[in-house]
Amino acid sequence: MKITDLRCIHIPSLRALLLRIDTDEGIYGLSQVEMSKHAYMAPHILYYKPFIVGLDPRNVEDVMRRIRRLGGFKPWGAAVSSIEIALWDIAGKATGVPIYRLLGGKVRDTVRPYMGGPPPFHMYQPYWQGGDRPEDYYAMAKARKESARGMTIMKVATGFHDSRWRTVADHHYGISYVPRQSAGFMEFAPEALGQNAGMVTKRGLDHAVACMAAVREALGEDMELAIDCGPGWKVPGAIAFARRVEPLRPFWLEDLVTGDYTPYVSPELYREVKAKTSVMIHTGEQIYLRHNFKELIETQAVDVIGPDPMDIGGLAELKWVAEYADLHGILIAPHGIGDGPFGLAALIQVCATLPDNFIAFELPVVLPEWKGLISGILHEDMIQDGVIQVPDAPGLGVDLVEDEVRRILGREDIYLTDVQVR
Ligand SMILES: [Mg+2]
Repeated sequence: MKITDLRCIHIPSLRALLLRIDTDEGIYGLSQVEMSKHAYMAPHILYYKPFIVGLDPRNVEDVMRRIRRLGGFKPWGAAVSSIEIALWDIAGKATGVPIYRLLGGKVRDTVRPYMGGPPPFHMYQPYWQGGDRPEDYYAMAKARKESARGMTIMKVATGFHDSRWRTVADHHYGISYVPRQSAGFMEFAPEALGQNAGMVTKRGLDHAVACMAAVREALGEDMELAIDCGPGWKVPGAIAFARRVEPLRPFWLEDLVTGDYTPYVSPELYREVKAKTSVMIHTGEQIYLRHNFKELIETQAVDVIGPDPMDIGGLAELKWVAEYADLHGILIAPHGIGDGPFGLAALIQVCATLPDNFIAFELPVVLPEWKGLISGILHEDMIQDGVIQVPDAPGLGVDLVEDEVRRILGREDIYLTDVQVR
């Protein structure tokens, strides 16, 4: 079997960029690119085509050795990672088995998601939008809890991860970047944001703590509260925040120092924060490849890592890092909010194979508009009592209904096949 083509499909209404790898035997693999990149990433994906055409897609590692060194931290590892997942889709379909079987087999029949997104095909209630008062956070958390379907962990945003900090006067010492146009879900304003960062003020700290207390009240005692915080905190501010929220018993504090779109890790700073609080410290969604997790894991700089299969370099890379983390007593809760339906299918496959350090994966947002555009294993009621049954369909188990894509896009030719340079 040989790879014959790599093409992209952009669905603007869903802000989704998909990729399709074809073979000379008619079997194809599908995947999707992680959030915030949409059409701008298509040339980046197509760039890899000459490196993979002619190779046997079932030898996933052989293909990856040709392109792995051409990736980088989020967002530049997204193309490489998505290609890896499409290769596994082909390998699974060619063998007639689900991907988990090719990764060494499953160790659990159900996998546990946590509430980043809502259950598939349900309306999305963003965890970083709405009013900025504690009562607004209370209402947001209450509303989201109604769609929990037994899920036991909800993630909410605060600090630099939450655009509402902009309404707090003198939130922190430092430059504040404000987008010239609002960037909604899965959309990056073309004038990309600078990194908001700095030492938080008493006023900023008080606001964040009050809002998280309101969320804890809304969640009650039967739900874990995971807090996505940054990146951008300075070490003393991060420690002060962690200690102030300790009485709320958050499950973890995510990305305080580095994270989202930070092209480095800073394990030594995380080590300082971790040593001074009893709350679990979590990071890693932007990190590309095992090599960049090495110091974080070997020095036990955090309690939980959160790699995204669509940024770390793919499913096999995530599996390797999870095993290595387990060896060092570190937990794993993979990231996935912007991975879409194909990312959800991929997360289910890899999480079925992870060791005992697996907590739960972040539920990708699969908007109701995906209905009819995809067929296969994903459905509205797939979360029961907080878990998802691991499906046995070959590959990822999700197909794209291309006729429906043609209808929505209003044209026959739905593929982006060439990088235009003008
Ligand atoms: Mg995050």
